[in-house]
Amino acid sequence: MHPYMGKKAVLSTMHGKQQAIVQPFKNFLNVSIQVPNKINTDVLGTFSGEIERELTPIETLRKKARMGMEELGLPLGIASEGSFGPHRYLPWVAEDHEILLWIDEEQGIEVIEHEVSVETNFDTKIISSFNDFNDFLDKVHFPSHALVVRPNSGIIPGFTFKGLKRAFEVKEAIAICSSASADGLVHVETDMRAHMNPTRMKVINKLAEKLAVRLLKLCPDCSCPGWGVIDVVRGLPCEACGLKTKQIAQEVYGCPSCNFKKEEPRQDGVKTSSPTYCDWCNP
Ligand SMILES: [Zn+2]
Ligand SMILES: [Zn+2]
Repeated sequence: MHPYMGKKAVLSTMHGKQQAIVQPFKNFLNVSIQVPNKINTDVLGTFSGEIERELTPIETLRKKARMGMEELGLPLGIASEGSFGPHRYLPWVAEDHEILLWIDEEQGIEVIEHEVSVETNFDTKIISSFNDFNDFLDKVHFPSHALVVRPNSGIIPGFTFKGLKRAFEVKEAIAICSSASADGLVHVETDMRAHMNPTRMKVINKLAEKLAVRLLKLCPDCSCPGWGVIDVVRGLPCEACGLKTKQIAQEVYGCPSCNFKKEEPRQDGVKTSSPTYCDWCNP
């Protein structure tokens, strides 16, 4: 029997992420996710910047997960963080980088999974009046996705309006922020909090499945949950000349608890590289 079968785990969230995470954990692991009522993850920083994030994303995740584990007194915890910005290779496209952390205090392990998706409405615009930005509203899927409005000149306490889903609220917030802003302009951005952003919720759901599936896999050596890819080996041979390229040749599987590792062929079955990536054929 899997060690997590029938167990409870704490999800530290104020933003309804249970919507995306409960089901995969139920379906794959039969783990029931509990959400503490009294928890303020905003003290660790907010997207809209009223509280600066001082920790790295992984440190933030650890703190967040532990807050919930302490609150409910459970040894299993989960927390999620997202960051948004230009795509690494396609800077004109926005990307959503989601991280999910699992802590198992009894086994003394952490398991981390990532998901990078270009399915995101992440965007910002600086405007002077509401009439400026109908195209923007369509593009960011307003009103199914909420907006954040603040003065363009900087953050002024009490002048960040979040979770705006009605045109009249947006209009009002724009009027207030424009008179509060030193330059008269207003900074509008997509509200990236999960409960305000169904597109992000979908990405978190996909990632939760990935993590649940990974936790389902046990280490072949010590039977600890969380067996999965921890590294890659480059050197996929070029299909034209046979020399090694920088493309991934093998995936390295590892255990979060012991040092056992195993190299496996790529999951996608690719065995050779296109000469495009070969330093010899295409220098
Ligand atoms: Zn070659
Ligand atoms: Zn192991």
